[in-house]
Amino acid sequence: MANIGFIGLGQMGGAMSRNLLKAGHRLRVYDIDADAVAALAADGAEAAASPAEAARDAEFVITMLQVGPIVEAVVFGAGGIAEGISKDALFIEMSTILPEETQRIGARLAEAQGVGMIDAPVGRTSAHAAAGTSTFMVGGEAADMERARPLLEVLGESITHCGPLGAGAMVKLVNNYISAVVNLATAEGLALAEAAGIGNDVVAEVIGQTPAGQGHIRTTWPGKALVDDPTPAFMLDLAYKDIDLALETGARLNVPLATGAAGRQIYAMARSQGRGRDDWTTGIFRTVKALAGLTGTQDSE
Ligand code: NAD
Repeated sequence: MANIGFIGLGQMGGAMSRNLLKAGHRLRVYDIDADAVAALAADGAEAAASPAEAARDAEFVITMLQVGPIVEAVVFGAGGIAEGISKDALFIEMSTILPEETQRIGARLAEAQGVGMIDAPVGRTSAHAAAGTSTFMVGGEAADMERARPLLEVLGESITHCGPLGAGAMVKLVNNYISAVVNLATAEGLALAEAAGIGNDVVAEVIGQTPAGQGHIRTTWPGKALVDDPTPAFMLDLAYKDIDLALETGARLNVPLATGAAGRQIYAMARSQGRGRDDWTTGIFRTVKALAGLTGTQDSE
């Protein structure tokens, strides 16, 4: 069983600390919220008076804080982790922060203290953290991830190595971007249905069976956009037509469909670039990549 320093005992960190304790690990914990520390101490953790104290003699030091500047202050500020952490420890950063912040912290820790670091931001919600069914997107050396694996397996049910330090943070950012935008499009669609007198439960039942509710990556993208195959299962021209139908109806019912209004412009560009008869997934992916100046993007076939 490992000695772990855990800093940041909020929604996520509190639940994770408890699961590590339950698995038999020894925890020394710190948070600026004294009540959060006291609650963990009541559950068997040792209370620390600073991040440095939580990190001292620990084999693993974990941070689960809100934003990058707080993580940097907790690591390098007065009484910070850098003052207490031992050379042999592994620093595991789990907050959702910028990849650049992660890399800057890792480089500075390695240079000053010779300490290894991985970023392991967490997917899903605090309910999953409490149930020990989180997902982890890991950046850093594969060997360091293997070292952390026994702890990550206590906390979650899926661990993906994404690349070098910062790659976990990058994949987390991509995941949350997709998730937040789909959340908005879902709200717009259900509001449109409601304005037309159709209940949320009916729409939920229908879209639960389609890519709209199930997500594209496992439904429409395999065999098409993921392998750059433009032969259409569903033509981009038809998807464009359907966005138009919804926008027209939204305008009539006074429902704002901002996601679709912006998306329509990109679909129009795809059509003007000759991709209208392509599969809608491959056509739109090729268009966005071309607009982003990514090399290797094929022209429509
Ligand atoms: P939270 O606000 O509940 O917890 C953050 C904790 O950090 C608090 O207990 C706070 O007191 C503590 N803190 C703040 N400043 C500190 C400092 N200087 N020193 C020590 N402790 C300090 O937030 P959360 O929901 O646990 O989220 C933490 C991170 O995880 C965020 O980056 C969030 O985006 C990410 N995340 C959250 C969820 C979720 O469902 N809540 C899911 C996945 C990822």
